[in-house]
Amino acid sequence: MKSIQLCFCGSNFNFSSCCQPYINKEVQVQTAEQLMRSRFSAYAIGNAQYIYDTYAKSSRAEQSVEDIDDWSKSCLWIALKIYPIANSVNNTTEQLVEFSAFYITNNTLCELREKSRFILEESIATNSTVKEKATLNSPLKQWRYIDGDIIAHSELTMIKRNELCPCNYYPTAWQSKKGKKFKHCCGK
Ligand SMILES: [Zn+2]
Ligand SMILES: [Zn+2]
Repeated sequence: MKSIQLCFCGSNFNFSSCCQPYINKEVQVQTAEQLMRSRFSAYAIGNAQYIYDTYAKSSRAEQSVEDIDDWSKSCLWIALKIYPIANSVNNTTEQLVEFSAFYITNNTLCELREKSRFILEESIATNSTVKEKATLNSPLKQWRYIDGDIIAHSELTMIKRNELCPCNYYPTAWQSKKGKKFKHCCGK
């Protein structure tokens, strides 16, 4: 087993010094992009609770931890690509992040490209520890995911077992075993 895991979000940092502290709720994200990245990493490791908790209050009612769990685990999340986007500098409480998430399901490589909306909103203290922490050393407002416009959600290609694994084509793929066939890499 590798002792160092590159972060799933493709940042080239170690998971332990990138998205993991956010997912473990040890540190609060500072930007909408960090939240987006950590949500992708949470999909990659199947942490549905974090994904649920980082929905905006207004969007949470339409979600369930079980549904998120099913969807995250039915896919192998191989790469995240974030596109540059012009956010209004005056709008400090709502931001857009455009991204493509590449994943494999049923031996098919898929791309979900979405322009997501994030909002800085009052955090909900779920227990006393969180509450104390919030009042002591962190702002009470947190970035949350509202929803997104799906730009493309498509099946890119069927992957044959003996083909070069598609993760090789994505520089931000975290799982890539250089030059390996699909059956020895993500198809395992
Ligand atoms: Zn990360
Ligand atoms: Zn692979």
